[in-house]
Amino acid sequence: MRIIVVGSGYVGLVSGACFAESGVNVTCVDVSADKIQHLKDGAIPIYEPGLEDMIKRNVEKKRLSFTTDLKEGIDGSEVIFIAVGTPPGEDGSADLKHVLSVAKEIGQVITKHMVVVTKSTVPVGTSEKIRKVIQNELNKRKVSVPFDVASNPEFLKEGAAVDDFLKPERIVIGIDNEKTGEIMKRLYMPFVLNNHPILFMDIASAEITKYAANAMLATRISFINEIANLCDILGADINNVRKGIGSDSRIGSKFIYPGTGYGGSCFPKDVKAIIKTAHDNGYELNVIKAVEKANEYQKNVIFSKMTMFFKSNLKNRVIGIWGLSFKPKTDDIREASSIILIEKLLQAGAKVKAYDPAAMEEAKKHLGNKIEYAADPYAALIDVDAMALMTEWAEFHLPDYKKMADLMKGKVIFDGRNIYDPDELNRLGFKYFGIGRR
Ligand code: NAD
Repeated sequence: MRIIVVGSGYVGLVSGACFAESGVNVTCVDVSADKIQHLKDGAIPIYEPGLEDMIKRNVEKKRLSFTTDLKEGIDGSEVIFIAVGTPPGEDGSADLKHVLSVAKEIGQVITKHMVVVTKSTVPVGTSEKIRKVIQNELNKRKVSVPFDVASNPEFLKEGAAVDDFLKPERIVIGIDNEKTGEIMKRLYMPFVLNNHPILFMDIASAEITKYAANAMLATRISFINEIANLCDILGADINNVRKGIGSDSRIGSKFIYPGTGYGGSCFPKDVKAIIKTAHDNGYELNVIKAVEKANEYQKNVIFSKMTMFFKSNLKNRVIGIWGLSFKPKTDDIREASSIILIEKLLQAGAKVKAYDPAAMEEAKKHLGNKIEYAADPYAALIDVDAMALMTEWAEFHLPDYKKMADLMKGKVIFDGRNIYDPDELNRLGFKYFGIGRR
């Protein structure tokens, strides 16, 4: 089988590589000539465990290739995936300009039957827009080429994307005819040998499923963050409360870890987009609006704790930051709480030294030389007045506390992910501030 994946970012590249791994012949397309040249040279533009080896292996086997020209992969292909970005527009709605520009290009080049599958996260009705744009281009060409559209939202998690794609908990596919369903089933069969389901449904339901999933996960995060803040005020420990509620099977223990608010390229924009979709259709999603508001508050929670500790005098304080990516095992800093904290600290006149195992290059693109980038975690602590743990990378879990104490001028730890033991740190002479930890 031969397919094309348009958009070679986190989703497109991982999907393309994983389909190639299953024996499919995949052409990955991107508008960025730089990105494609890097990929052709064997350089992987994103950090994602397991991806580099998989790409190399499949390029060598000639099952995976890269191009900027959609036409190059078109001969013999049966399916085109659209996996380009859908950033938030100014009003919060998903900006479809990249998706629709790919649809236009598809209409300009297809010559035989094709299934056009949207993997990007898009609002209800987008597949119909894609269908119209393609048909319009075919009309302009005065040709009649049959094609179908389908919706196949992606649920992979950055940091575990390859594993998630190879062993998905479920695959959601929105279709409007059986033939498309058969093609998609054949393509995905190798990934459901674990008996996890392929859920076929109508296109609108598939489109909304992705937003509903992200909104639900964001809701759990904001919920537990609010309870943690209440624990802070009332002198309770969120870890006890979390275990107390998580052991109820109706609630479960996943996704109820408090922190510094959700970030990344998906939750913030998808929450905004579903609120906007509902609003545009005359309905207000009050719960999800509150989730967003609670998250905005939470992104400032460490800064507020620092401001209180330093009695609003952060000028010339030096703060060490561990972790820049929005979560571990990725170099993605989009909407990361660390960046919001750093910007606030700089505004308040503080100086920042930061370390991250993977995201420093990305952070440099955003923050330039406004902060110091440390060569290792301990170098980020030399002579600091306090440190903040912002991303729970594995290597930060059991640090050498003695070394930290020797290096830090002020032995103050703000633990944005609740990974340290407050009692132990207090015993070692540190002042510890977590999220809802008494
Ligand atoms: P990304 O920004 O990493 O990659 C998008 C790629 O599309 C870029 O390389 C860009 O150059 C390319 N592109 C843009 N316009 C193009 C065009 N006209 N032709 C060809 N290429 C084009 O984005 P991403 O994180 O991979 O997300 C893609 C979509 O998948 C979004 O809708 C996102 O919401 C969704 N999604 C993302 C994740 C995630 O964890 N990142 C998970 C599930 C779903």
